[in-house]
Amino acid sequence: MKTIQHLIDGEFRAGSSGRSSAVFNPATGERSGEVALASVDEVDVAVASAKAAFDDWKNESLAKRTKLMFEFRNLVVANADEIAARLTSEHGKVLSDAGGEVARAVENIEFACGLAEHLKGSYSESASTGVDVYSVRRPLGVVAGITPFNFPAMVPVWMFPNAIACGNTFVLKPSERDPSAPLFIAELFQEAGFPPGVLNVVHGDKISVDALLEHPDVKAVSFVGSTPIAKYVYETGTARGKRVQALGGAKNHMVVLPDADIDLAADSAVSAAYGSAGERCMAVSVAVAVGDAGDALVDAIKVRMEKLSVGPGTEPSAEMGPLITAEHRDRVAGYVGAGADAGATVVVDGREAQFDGDGFFLGVSLIDHVTPDMSVYTDEIFGPVLSVVRVDTYQEAVDLMSSNPWGNGAAIFTRDGGAARRFQEDADAGMVGINVPIPVPVGYHSFGGWKDSAFGDTTMYGPEGIHFFTRPKVLTSRWPDPATSAVDLGFPTNR
Ligand code: NAD
Repeated sequence: MKTIQHLIDGEFRAGSSGRSSAVFNPATGERSGEVALASVDEVDVAVASAKAAFDDWKNESLAKRTKLMFEFRNLVVANADEIAARLTSEHGKVLSDAGGEVARAVENIEFACGLAEHLKGSYSESASTGVDVYSVRRPLGVVAGITPFNFPAMVPVWMFPNAIACGNTFVLKPSERDPSAPLFIAELFQEAGFPPGVLNVVHGDKISVDALLEHPDVKAVSFVGSTPIAKYVYETGTARGKRVQALGGAKNHMVVLPDADIDLAADSAVSAAYGSAGERCMAVSVAVAVGDAGDALVDAIKVRMEKLSVGPGTEPSAEMGPLITAEHRDRVAGYVGAGADAGATVVVDGREAQFDGDGFFLGVSLIDHVTPDMSVYTDEIFGPVLSVVRVDTYQEAVDLMSSNPWGNGAAIFTRDGGAARRFQEDADAGMVGINVPIPVPVGYHSFGGWKDSAFGDTTMYGPEGIHFFTRPKVLTSRWPDPATSAVDLGFPTNR
């Protein structure tokens, strides 16, 4: 059984807290490893290492930083299969999906490779007579990232390449449920030639998260996870004067208008609801069927569900793998029962699917005639369960979404360009898809939701990521002709 260690100051370190947590292979149910859970002292050592590295790193030339970032990008691409294998073995997602996660992570590194362009600043020559003004963005210092189980490779890479490109040093606290992939990526980062201490990885639970939130030398915290913890991290971190961005959970709606291409809508609903076993913050969990779209949509989704292949992520034919833990699987299954008890129609019941072995598998479920008061609608299920809510009009669909507390992603399926354009405005969500079910922005835009899906002023990666990990400095300089100098107690005005 493997032991998963911290990576601090460029060295692997066994945990010294005496606490650890089991890591499972969700496809077999076997305990495959043990991850150390950091103590407050271990977090202190990691932050001290990052702090010591900051002084040199922030002054490293843009040319050197860029070169190292390209090197890192190339190592991640060269090791993509190994990263994907680690994702599948601890998260459970199928290998093709894991490969997609790595590809999106690479996009984020490629954006960070453009750091010289991102950090150019701006310059105003002769803003006043003989006075030049220029704005630059400076790093914050030691910054931390705390990440969820569902994208163990991609979400850390949303954060640390941009942060480090900007001259910060970083402490990453990945999910303790699937820590091997982010640790391996950090090893590749080290191999690329970044100095020790620039990126540290501490594994842990609430104790290490709290230690980062309390630490006076941690200047900013980037968090992704569930809404209650995101809110807690945001409130705790900002109360201690830190800059915090905290992305939370989701309940993404896909509105299907009566004129939609039903085959396209059904393909998209099935892909977005059941891909990665529904454990994506951008998964579609509610299909809102408008007018008479409902019957045709439900029939078309059901037909596609019957053909889905669920199995171990390492099996090439498998399209969907297991859930992350047995407890989570049972919780998700409980929602299907709750939907039936509340009066919804369970069209396909994933609990009836049979699987060999002890893996954390659950079949796909489709629940029709869901109403907004049912727990299948109100709660984030984070599993392979799609609810269908039927409404009479477009406006009812928009009102439904607006009254939902989350606002991560939203999508509309229609052939009507005018309706789609109206939806762009009406959708109360941070990321909107027009005939695109999972509108995850490309690496040079930024990612983040609205309402209870995100706390803080900036979203993640892309230009907003650069903004979050830097602060502005404006320089005003004058090289006057000495003959023009004079005492002047008035407020500086520009002439
Ligand atoms: P989680 O909130 O349980 O854990 C996230 C991180 O917080 C982990 O590193 C974990 O160790 C830490 N943590 C857990 N409990 C804590 C506590 N009490 N105090 C302090 N830290 C704690 O989330 P998860 O189950 O790992 O991930 C799934 C959730 O993340 C879903 O809600 C999903 O929607 C959300 N998510 C959101 C986005 C987004 O961009 N909005 C992206 C991915 C996942």
